Amino acid sequence: MSNLNLFDLIPKIRYTVELPVSKKEIEVEPYKHGNVRSILLLMQDFKQRKQGHMKKALQSMQKIVEDCILPDAKGDKIDVKKLHIADFVYVMNYIKAISNGEESSFFFRCDTENCKQEKKIDFVLDDCEVKNLENKDIDKIEIEFENQDNIFLHLKPFTFQIYIDNARFFGQEFIEGNEATRYYASFIDAIEGKGQIFDNMKKDNIVKFLDALYECDLKKLIDYINNVPMLVWEKKYECEKCGKINHIKLEHPTDFFV
Ligand SMILES: [Zn+2]
Repeated sequence: MSNLNLFDLIPKIRYTVELPVSKKEIEVEPYKHGNVRSILLLMQDFKQRKQGHMKKALQSMQKIVEDCILPDAKGDKIDVKKLHIADFVYVMNYIKAISNGEESSFFFRCDTENCKQEKKIDFVLDDCEVKNLENKDIDKIEIEFENQDNIFLHLKPFTFQIYIDNARFFGQEFIEGNEATRYYASFIDAIEGKGQIFDNMKKDNIVKFLDALYECDLKKLIDYINNVPMLVWEKKYECEKCGKINHIKLEHPTDFFV
């Protein structure tokens, strides 16, 4: 028996990645064999039926990313749930790339009704862009009233935590009104008006407050949510069978996960 730890036989491969929204640098390592099990589970889930499986799929993804992020020099590890959703999607795909080789590819079917020709498309992470990056520091929305004090909605950034908390909402084809308001409410950190700040509010109370706003005022919050920074990947290609120019766009976080 030697004093060598068995696991010391496996070298640590580290990569430094800069997160596109927070600009923070973190160190990651590729997946290990043990991680791959959760990836397989996740893929199975997604293929079976997207609906209702979203939360489980997101939890597996969170676990994979957590396992592959290495502690910093002080030994601290980043809280994956607090990552901006665009940073999460980026690091998730970065880990995928260093684990499976630089390029990953997927099959896309031609849009033309009677064609549906399959084409292998290479996905390169470096070709992604972060849209709406200029909005990353918005932390307040002002709702103006005539003859009365304005209200300020203090906002939370769109973190992976918010995304996973609303997994049900993203996994559904039909969204009920109240569910949409609950989703909007997850972005509210505090409400300020008449010199007072209401923080630590229960979600139900935020929902009631949002329901009481005029539609045109609530729209300001919805616009904020719809224009948060997001990772986007676009590609055009000509179908070799029918000549149609197909336009592929990955923009919703889940578009990047399969
Ligand atoms: Zn075609």
